[in-house]
Amino acid sequence: MSQKITVVNGKLIVPNHPIIPFIEGDGVGPEIWQAAQTIFDHAIEKAYQGQRKVAWQEVLAGEKSFNANGSWLPDETMQAFKDYLIGIKGPLTTPVGGGIRSLNVALRQELDLYVCLRPVRWFNGVESPLKMPEKVNMTIFRENTEDIYAGIEWQQGTAEAQKFYQFLSQEMGVKKVRFPQTSAFGVKPVSIEGSERLIRAAINYAFDNKLPSLTLVHKGNIMKFTEGGFKQWGYELAEREFADSVFTMQQFDKLKKQQGNEAAQTTLKHAKSSGKLIIKDVICDAFLQNTLLKPEEYSVIATLNLNGDYVSDQLAAMVGGIGIAPGANINYLTGHAIFEATHGTAPDIAGEDMANPSSLLLSGVMMFDYLGWTEVGQLISRAMAQLFQQGSATVDLARFMSNGKILTTKQFTQAIIRHL
Ligand code: NAD
Repeated sequence: MSQKITVVNGKLIVPNHPIIPFIEGDGVGPEIWQAAQTIFDHAIEKAYQGQRKVAWQEVLAGEKSFNANGSWLPDETMQAFKDYLIGIKGPLTTPVGGGIRSLNVALRQELDLYVCLRPVRWFNGVESPLKMPEKVNMTIFRENTEDIYAGIEWQQGTAEAQKFYQFLSQEMGVKKVRFPQTSAFGVKPVSIEGSERLIRAAINYAFDNKLPSLTLVHKGNIMKFTEGGFKQWGYELAEREFADSVFTMQQFDKLKKQQGNEAAQTTLKHAKSSGKLIIKDVICDAFLQNTLLKPEEYSVIATLNLNGDYVSDQLAAMVGGIGIAPGANINYLTGHAIFEATHGTAPDIAGEDMANPSSLLLSGVMMFDYLGWTEVGQLISRAMAQLFQQGSATVDLARFMSNGKILTTKQFTQAIIRHL
């Protein structure tokens, strides 16, 4: 019998027949969902021979929902994601001029999905602008609820913008606004709790996946209290809550000051060889350079919302995966998570049987890993890797492969199933 996934004492309890709501999405959504669900079901069957099976439950959002009942995001859909904890979705059309800014943002806010998780890896065969894309293997934890992204801003020329400026100049003594009469203003809230829960999740992920390092990426050299706070709280959290199993570059610097470089280097070397997680930090602009020059130095990345936006797209582009990059939005405290294709609805190719379902497929791989059904993800990833290596892919990827063989969405789906 199908059952709900639940959380008990912070631990996910996944029945053998979990109910998982899905939004197929707009544009190419129905085609890639059809492909993905077929592949998921075959992979589950292959991994567990009937012992486990997902009861997929469609919920509506986006254009399909609007056409059916006049609502872009019905309450029942939100309730389903709340009740069933975990869901997966295709891309949604962003309504223009409606009451809702973005459906994705609404889902993230309502469920307080504070981690945007983006793993970035290269598939052999996929065309990349890098000489050695195989060196890129990172997982980005982007803070999802705070920062300049929180949407606290006032338009230029409004009474609110002027009022805000008056407060700044009269109450706070701010004299630095260069053109106060014609400025728009934005506010960047960054809290201890918000930073800590994100960084804690990233550290736990690094331990669970036996990864060597976690890098706090920030602009604390300029934005000392917000971005600088993020870095400082991250180091403090790591040293306080994970004292026995991490070594931080803050500890390294302290040691170097007290006992000299050699002693610090020896301790670092020992920490690495004894399997401790190394926690370091880097300024975001230097990080972006380093990802091109020495990507092998980075593993898990924790960063604030805006940096995370840029970093995710650059890293995805570096492995040629901008069209196949998966993503998830997660609240590790409540267990709520929504896994999603990161591209848009691709209206230009919708209905043509040419869309690439890989982003949704890899989001599914993340979802099965999150559920602890890791065998399913392994089967799917391996099959995809084999196909890409042979040059078999949908047109968006195959056209750039030297040995490229263009497959339709349906052909690609069948080819994956044969390789499971
Ligand atoms: P898009 O990602 O839909 O398309 C950009 C280009 O990439 C197009 O040429 C498209 O054909 C191609 N492409 C995208 N996905 C593909 C796939 N799976 N296979 C092959 N090619 C693919 O971006 P856009 O055109 O800027 O946005 C279209 C709509 O999607 C807008 O309404 C936008 O708001 C929405 N959108 C939704 C999400 C989301 O739900 N997560 C994300 C981005 C954009």
